[in-house]
Amino acid sequence: METTRKTSSTNLLDGRRSSGPGQILKGMTLEELQAWCIDRGQTRFRGLQLFEWMYRHQVTNPDTMTNISGEFRGYLREHCIFNTLELLKVTQSDTGTTQKLLLTTADDLHLETVSMLEKNRHTVCLSSQIGCNVDCDFCATGSMGFLRNLSVGEIIDQLIAAYQLTDVPVTNIVFMGMGEPFLNYDRVMTAADIFHHRQGFDLGATRITISTSGILPGIQRFIREKRRYKLAVSLNATTEAVRSKIMPVSHTWSIEKIFSELREYQSDSQRKIMFEYILMQDINDSPEDAVRLINMIKDFDCKLNIIPYNETDGRYRRPDEEVIEKFLEILYRRRGNIQILVRWSKGQDIAAACGQLAVRSS
Ligand code: SAH
Ligand code: SF4
Repeated sequence: METTRKTSSTNLLDGRRSSGPGQILKGMTLEELQAWCIDRGQTRFRGLQLFEWMYRHQVTNPDTMTNISGEFRGYLREHCIFNTLELLKVTQSDTGTTQKLLLTTADDLHLETVSMLEKNRHTVCLSSQIGCNVDCDFCATGSMGFLRNLSVGEIIDQLIAAYQLTDVPVTNIVFMGMGEPFLNYDRVMTAADIFHHRQGFDLGATRITISTSGILPGIQRFIREKRRYKLAVSLNATTEAVRSKIMPVSHTWSIEKIFSELREYQSDSQRKIMFEYILMQDINDSPEDAVRLINMIKDFDCKLNIIPYNETDGRYRRPDEEVIEKFLEILYRRRGNIQILVRWSKGQDIAAACGQLAVRSS
């Protein structure tokens, strides 16, 4: 049974959202904050202080920014906005270790973030967009359509909300919530850079995973820019025909095109790739699929993440346990050096598992 609690807007993300007048500081980079401070007659150093207060200390109230002069704190209080989201509701899974946060933006759109605690890891699954227009046939987010991209501040405030809720520092970030990160490339990368920044959240680059459905221009840009974050590609099928049927994006960028880009990426960077494969009954769960899957990826230095499908509207189903076992057995027998992880989704009882995130805007 799930437990739900309503929260007031002030206990977690105290302060205002970005409605009304005011400069939104959340989401600004160090360079932007420095320039902004100089424009207001402050020193460059003031920009670093603000950066540290907002991201390293995750403070939302200027009054607590003790190394900033009282006068400038007054200015910040009067003219600036440090929050972009409000926490509306928290839903907790049976085990209590997975929580789904329902957040609302200044323009009253809703989005979801998932916090997962496991031993000494706190993984937060972030949304990059409200809705998604990639329109994968099996995905609850896809069925909402696309409303808008999230801002850098809104991406960052999801993490801060998850931290403030649990009081456990975040150790891993996955862009596997609502939306396609590579269709909001600039903002997602700016947020990731702030998460990674020494004076920001100081998270290692490999603790940040960006999952894409296969947006080739985004993958190419990620490679060209030598981004050090982990790249995950949602494969979900072993033939072009099946993939195109369930993921329309495949009509534009085929598996073959994506793989040839990834091969080059690995020969240059030697970075591991993660492939995600959701297992759906009678779609991609046959023994032949298992063999094809291993053959397709065996030349990559990669991890394979198998996700038994989380049912949403009943059109697609999770395969029976024996079918999943058989599929995994074939994979394990042939896996070579490939590390295989099975993601029995946490939080399925609260629809907080992959692909179950979908909210209505108010
Ligand atoms: N848009 C990106 C990231 C968000 S989706 C992408 O598609 O990769 C994150 C992962 O959830 C993807 O691997 C996607 O295939 C998977 N997914 C979507 N719907 C799902 C469902 N109902 N059950 C299990 N996984 C799902
Ligand atoms: Fe968008 Fe990813 Fe869902 Fe596809 S699986 S509709 S890309 S969120």
